[in-house]
Amino acid sequence: MSLDASRIEPRPERLTAHEARQRLEHARNTRMTQLQALSEGGQADDQLVSAQQAAIERVLKEIDEAFARIDAGIYGACMGCGKPVPGERLEILPYTRYCVACQRRAAA
Ligand SMILES: [Zn+2]
Repeated sequence: MSLDASRIEPRPERLTAHEARQRLEHARNTRMTQLQALSEGGQADDQLVSAQQAAIERVLKEIDEAFARIDAGIYGACMGCGKPVPGERLEILPYTRYCVACQRRAAA
């Protein structure tokens, strides 16, 4: 007889590198699709469109930087205070560099 409890795996505090990569790949694919849809809109001189494109390109750059942080083994640590960024925040913003408190400070 074995204990059922032994089958329940503890939920990891931090994303594994594999999970993080998957989330980032997904985020990148979504942005690439958006970028393509915008460029196919045929209104390239539209200020709103170019502002949206610039915003998406900024996120793509942040995603690239997040991939680099995985390679460096520092993914998930806040670049401001060095503490781990909460998992639920990384689920929403897998490429974020800051925890909520430092993000607020950076934006202020
Ligand atoms: Zn922080």
